[in-house]
Amino acid sequence: MHDNAIIIGGGFYGCALAVFLSQHGHQVTLLEAGGDLMQRASYVNQARIHNGYHYPRSFVTAWRSLVNFPRFVLDFRECVDNSFEKVYAIARRGSKVNAYQFRQFCQNIGAPIRQAPVSIRRLFTPDLIEEVFIVREFAFNAAILRELMRDKLARIGVTVRLNTAAHHVEQAGRVRVVLSSGEALEGDAVFNCTYAQINTLLQRSGLPLIPMKHEITELVLIEPPPELRELGITVMDGAFFSTMPFPAEGLHSLSHVRYTPHDSWADTLDGYRDPYETLAHQPIQSNAPYMIHDAQRYLPALSHARYVRSLYEVKTVLLKNETDDGRPILCREDYGLKHFYLVMGGKIDNIYDVLTYLRQFISAAEFP
Ligand SMILES: Cc1cc2nc3c(=O)[nH]c(=O)nc-3n(C[C@H](O)[C@H](O)[C@H](O)COP(=O)(O)OP(=O)(O)OC[C@H]3O[C@@H](n4cnc5c(N)ncnc54)[C@H](O)[C@@H]3O)c2cc1C
Repeated sequence: MHDNAIIIGGGFYGCALAVFLSQHGHQVTLLEAGGDLMQRASYVNQARIHNGYHYPRSFVTAWRSLVNFPRFVLDFRECVDNSFEKVYAIARRGSKVNAYQFRQFCQNIGAPIRQAPVSIRRLFTPDLIEEVFIVREFAFNAAILRELMRDKLARIGVTVRLNTAAHHVEQAGRVRVVLSSGEALEGDAVFNCTYAQINTLLQRSGLPLIPMKHEITELVLIEPPPELRELGITVMDGAFFSTMPFPAEGLHSLSHVRYTPHDSWADTLDGYRDPYETLAHQPIQSNAPYMIHDAQRYLPALSHARYVRSLYEVKTVLLKNETDDGRPILCREDYGLKHFYLVMGGKIDNIYDVLTYLRQFISAAEFP
């Protein structure tokens, strides 16, 4: 085995890719800037295992979620939390879909849906909510997922280097990764799996940027009142909110389309902003009171929720999906340098689409 791969970024994508390449016989080194794996977007997110419902405006994303859902639930069953009822409520005003359209959309993609029982419907304000549905959607425990990935990496013999930040990449026959410490590593193939930082690495390497939009997001953690404890609730489809289990901390998350984003920008060559630096240095005042205040109009029981703390992270999407809310994958091979790859998934279960895409290079022996 003479070939080696270097993966930059130890989030879920970098870890899963490391396992995949290792299983295909490559020697893999995984570089992670932080002190542990999966501490950034792979931990600070809503923990929703998507099953299509969230994307009535992007058929492809909805359909791919539906296809990938059972695979993720089976492959990562130890981290799956299905102990709660998942509820989608449709707002009467300001929603981009009405109840009829939402039901039709679910039926078209084959996603199970039924009207919620009275015991759940009566939790909502009838003047503001048109219909309430029960659907099939779960959450994942990001702390357990991290342990699963850590075990897999150790068992399979991937070299994991924590506290190791890549500064830039360059062609030197093979692909050279120059670390922030000045050390240089060379790989037959190098994968940029740094999510919000993908363009930072490209910019420092003098390579063209990918059109991306970044948002500084606030994920509020609450202790829900007893009547919401075993429910995950999403109000669709517009400037509304979600509150659902965040299994890694035994709490519920609360996110709000209007108040979760604190700042957003698109990457351009002029005036490039480093997302992690922006998050680290921007003073942020929590929007939790606004989120709770607005959400309790639809779901009055939320007035008894106890605010615990907020998690902040950069959320990155491809610029082309800003309006349709789609979450496709980004996969580029030979990006500016031979055997330099870019990999990003807009949600956790997209990993299967990434691996399917990469399989063609590996089987075609493009990657030595
Ligand atoms: C607020 C929010 C809510 C979300 N909700 C959901 C949801 O409910 N369900 C869902 O499926 N998806 C959700 N997502 C999307 C999901 O979190 C991401 O698709 C996924 O976590 C991306 O994984 P990743 O490994 O690419 O990124 P990350 O987990 O961010 O990993 C990137 C890693 O790269 C490291 N890194 C960065 N720069 C360098 C460098 N120069 N050198 C070395 N390492 C570096 C970072 O430290 C980090 O560990 C959400 C995202 C956010 C932000």
